Amino acid sequence: MRHLAAEDWRVLTAVEMGSKNHELVPTPLIEKIARLKGGASGVHRSISNLAKVGLIAKVKEAKYDGYRLTYGGLDYLALHTHAARKHVYSVGTRVGVGKESDIMIVADDKGTQKILKIHRLGRISFRTVKTNRDYLKNRQSASWMYLSRLAAIKEFAFMQALRDEGFPVPEPIAQSRHTIVMTLIDASPMRQISSVPDPASLYADLIALILRFAKHGLIHGDFNEFNILIREDKDEQDPSIIHPTPIVIDFPQMVSMDHQNAEMYFDRDVACIKRFFERRFHFVSTTPGPFFKDAKKTVGKDGARRLDAAVEASGFTKKMAKDLEAAIREQQANARGTADDSDDLEDEEEEEDDDSGSEDNDEGVLIIGDQVLESEEGLQKLAINDGT
Ligand code: ADP
Ligand code: MG
Repeated sequence: MRHLAAEDWRVLTAVEMGSKNHELVPTPLIEKIARLKGGASGVHRSISNLAKVGLIAKVKEAKYDGYRLTYGGLDYLALHTHAARKHVYSVGTRVGVGKESDIMIVADDKGTQKILKIHRLGRISFRTVKTNRDYLKNRQSASWMYLSRLAAIKEFAFMQALRDEGFPVPEPIAQSRHTIVMTLIDASPMRQISSVPDPASLYADLIALILRFAKHGLIHGDFNEFNILIREDKDEQDPSIIHPTPIVIDFPQMVSMDHQNAEMYFDRDVACIKRFFERRFHFVSTTPGPFFKDAKKTVGKDGARRLDAAVEASGFTKKMAKDLEAAIREQQANARGTADDSDDLEDEEEEEDDDSGSEDNDEGVLIIGDQVLESEEGLQKLAINDGT
């Protein structure tokens, strides 16, 4: 991780603190929060150092002189927190660049490998979403850094609740800002599995998982071959027999069984599995369903803890859920290219090409070992208290 001088670090954290109530942090406020011994000139030197490496960016069209944290700056702060808490010592290779995240292998000081998931909502289309969405009425909700942070908080809360309930999910270790550290699962996504000894049995396991989620009040919402890892567990009696065991990941889009579109999400998860098993393993179940109306009757039965309620009680409020859901839905629609407003989306992209010179395009870049993480243009708000 790039080493920052103590003064530069103080100024970087000052910019983050200032961002809690300023979209653009005025330089005098940075000076006031950082309180460097060298006074204003010391702060200015640090500001220029940080801007040079892209951890903060000057916003040009502003009425006043000010800076905002870049995604690179936020990455840096989050990694620093994980390092201080001894969850991360070194950062290795990037294993995945998802639509909405970067997945890195990291290690702690004992060499134990873990996964760092960095949420990047808005990677695909920051400006289109920012400009024309009525749900983004206030700037706080419009901030993609705020939304990425919500995604991390939500994912961590669900992973924790599911893990506590004994679901096969990675163990969540820590969350800071828009990032999560979790255990590394030694398994490949089902997408990469070309054959299994007994497709019917794996299919039954996956359907059973959907129904078990439902019983606890939840729908995964993106239950597909990328988000199901298949671990090859050896049989206890006969190690030559391998049991493919599903481990589920990726939870920012989980919804409650009480959600107004719950049936659609439930059916979509079931259909995803059916479609994949038919295409990949030529397996079609003779049992129809499962059906939402039957699953709905099981919610909370036999003393099953309602995890949807538990997560809400943990501080992930309805407002946060709504902001995040709208953003995720938007992002998925854009990614599939099926947004019903794809026309004006195109227009805006053209427009973006035209005026690209006049916008603030400074993108933060964080260099960790030999990895370069390009950060996104984005605003950030840190108005929620998640202990970071
Ligand atoms: P996204 O939201 O971008 O889809 P995911 O959480 O689904 O991110 O992770 C993307 C990919 O990274 C997965 O398909 C998997 O290959 C890998 N991955 C994520 N988490 C883990 C983990 N805990 N252990 C091993 N691989 C993981
Ligand atoms: Mg995924």
